[in-house]
Parts: sequence; C-alpha cells; structure tokens
Amino acid sequence: MKLKLHWKIIIGMVLGLIYGIIAAMNGWGVFTSDWIAPFGKIFINLLKLIAIPLVLGSLVTGVASLSDLKKLSRIGGKTITIYITTTAIAVTIGLIVVNFARPGDNIPAEMRTKLQQTYQQDVAARASTAESVKERGPLQPMVDMVPSNFFGSAASNRNMLQVVFFAIFLGVAIVQLPAKQTKVFLGFFEGLNEVIIKMVDNIMFMAPYGVFALIADTINIIAKDNLAQVVELLSALGFYCITVIVGLLIQTVVTYPTLLKIFTKMSISDFFKGIAPAQLLAFSTSSSGATLPVTMERCEQNLGVSEEVSSFVLPLGATINMDGTALYQAVAAVFISQALGLSLDLGDQLTIILTAVLASIGTAAVPGAGIIMLVIILEAIDVPSAGIALILGVDRILDMLRTVTNITGDSSVAVSVAATEGQLGEINLKVD
Ligand code: ASP
Repeated sequence: MKLKLHWKIIIGMVLGLIYGIIAAMNGWGVFTSDWIAPFGKIFINLLKLIAIPLVLGSLVTGVASLSDLKKLSRIGGKTITIYITTTAIAVTIGLIVVNFARPGDNIPAEMRTKLQQTYQQDVAARASTAESVKERGPLQPMVDMVPSNFFGSAASNRNMLQVVFFAIFLGVAIVQLPAKQTKVFLGFFEGLNEVIIKMVDNIMFMAPYGVFALIADTINIIAKDNLAQVVELLSALGFYCITVIVGLLIQTVVTYPTLLKIFTKMSISDFFKGIAPAQLLAFSTSSSGATLPVTMERCEQNLGVSEEVSSFVLPLGATINMDGTALYQAVAAVFISQALGLSLDLGDQLTIILTAVLASIGTAAVPGAGIIMLVIILEAIDVPSAGIALILGVDRILDMLRTVTNITGDSSVAVSVAATEGQLGEINLKVD
C-alpha cells in the first residue's frame, strides 16, 4: 500500500523528534547542526525558491483570465474583509482565553529575573528592529507595496506583496489588450505555471526527509545539549503555552469551520484532510511563505478552489493574514503584563485588538517575525518591551503552532471566497 504524503511527513516529524531528544541527551549538537540541519535548510530553500515564480505565474494567468476587472475588485474586497474579520475574531479569542486563565499571575520572581537575564541580548536585537518599523509614516505600508524595480522585489521573498502587486498590474494590462497581441506573452506564464506545479511535486518527494532534519534541528537549537533546561523552561511557561495553544485550537476548529459552514457545503473533515500536508509543513518550517507553494497546490488540486481565486487569495493571505500570530500576540502581551504585575484596563485591551490586527498584517511570513511586532503592541499599552524576555525561550514552539493556524485561515478563506464566486469545484482527496 502506498502511504499518503501526510503520513510520510508525520513519520519524518516523529523520527526527527526522537532523534532530536537522543541527540540532546548525548551531546550530538555539533554533529546535528553540521550533518542533519543542512538538509532542512535545503528543503526550505527549495520551497522558497519557487514561491516568487509561482505567485507571479499563477497570479498573472489568474488575473488575465478574468473577463472583467469588476470581478477582481469584488474578489479583492471580499477577501480583505474576511481576512480582517477573522483576525479580529482571533485576537478577541486570545484576549478572552488569557484574561480567563491568567497564566502570568504565578511566575515566581526568581524565574522572572533569570529569564530576563538570559534573553537580555535577544530583546535588544528585536527591540531595535521594531524601532525601525515604528518610525515609518502611516502610509508607508502602501508605499512599500509598490516596487520601483521588479527584479529588486523578486530578489527577496520578504517582498511578496510587491510581487503580488506587480502581477496584478501586469494581468490587468493583459486583460485590457486584444487577445491576439498577448497570446505569446500569456502562453509563457501559463507554461511557467505548469512547470512550477511539477517542481512542487518534485520537492514534496523530499518533504519527509526535510521535515525530519528541520524538527531535529529545532530541538537541537532549543535544547542546546541540555534537555533539563527545556524541562525547566516548560514548567515555568507551560501554562502560558497551553493558553496560546487553547486559543489557537479554538480559532482553528471553531472559527474556520464556522466560516466554511456559512459560505460552503464542504465537509469540515474533507477540508482538514485536504490541507493536512500544508499544515504539517507550516509546523515544521514555521513559515507561511515557505509553505505557500504547497498551500496553493492543496487548495487547487485537492479542495477544488479555482486557480483564479487561489492565486490571488493565498499569496495575499500568506503576507497579510496571520490570525495565529495576532492571537498569540494578544495572549503574549497580556501574559507579560500579568507577569510584571501591571494591570490592563478595557481601553488597553481594545488597543491590543487594534494594534494586533494591524501588526499581524505587517508581520513577515517568516519564522519569529511575530515576536518583533509584539514589541510594538507592548509599547502601545505602556508595558516595557524588555518583557518579551519572559517568553523568548518558548517562542519557537509557539511559532510552529501559530503558523499552522495562519495557513489554515488562508485556506479556509480561499475556499469560502471560491464558493461565493461559484468557483469551487469537486473535492479530490486522492491526488497527493
Ligand atoms: N512564522 C509566522 C508565519 O510565517 C509568522 C510569525 O508569527 O512569526 O506565518
């Protein structure tokens, strides 16, 4: 029997976990980073390598296939409205859970001092990055979206939004011209699309091994040959982690299924089965950007979302829609205030909702980006940003989980928008 892809990835993850623990117990840290970690890096690089050409190819052909441009603005309006709504819901869930559980109340004073000392340097690095983000004017995000040189934006995956802008701009011009004049040019992008999809398939052969290496390396980085330290950290911050996880779970298994129920007839279990490999990759890579090629493939091939919708909604979602990140930021901000003995009033909580929604839009789709934006939220509610020292130790684990919620949110919105546009085809869970 041929094992399904998600099972292979799960096996890779479990073996990576087992190896990681054995390696930490035996002090194989250097061996792991020299001989195992590079394979994980290669795997992520391959995924990132095709992200820009994939977005370009599919978005240009997607927009060019639109009969009228009104449709584009309609799909765009719907997508952004649902994205912002689900993010606001996520933050609210986070706030309710953290105010109810109050995980920050019982952090022993000496643990607090120890954490603050250990992560002092890391805090300084993040705070200075946040400072440069904060200094920008209110319209800067809009300016940032419009590149002055296409090759400059295509040179970095961080500029995905600029590539999305360029592709739409190009696609619109193609629609405006007579088909005869654009046939060859468009044909190139259609071909590019097919080739890239084949490349995603080829990369996915490597997924179980890549995931093994990524998980082994993550444990290596967290444990640093000292498993006892991880246990100590988890016992201090375990309740905080559980609070974030409960919030993420509610968002993932209540909010998204509700969205699907409202807009589609899709069975919830089919939805989750369809996107499982993308979720597993999001977990292993902690990057919605690196997961994007697989998220798109699963939504199109398995869940029946039309290319026109998926190629617009998903790249946009990977860059601006981060429900898991926003929820985590809300929980983390309140947790830090609780731990430092600062009380937050209703106005502060509302500020958190607003800033977390905006900050998650500005968060890059790469590992650890969420915690940088957290600094800005903390400053908005007058909590010392040095407080992030308290949570840095467990950030990587929570990053993996919030990235899963991020891409699940993008996929559920893609399915919903496709359904409202009459562009949701048959589900096909057989293709891997
Ligand atoms: N790693 C997250 C993502 O790429 C962003 C973050 O929350 O740090 O979706």
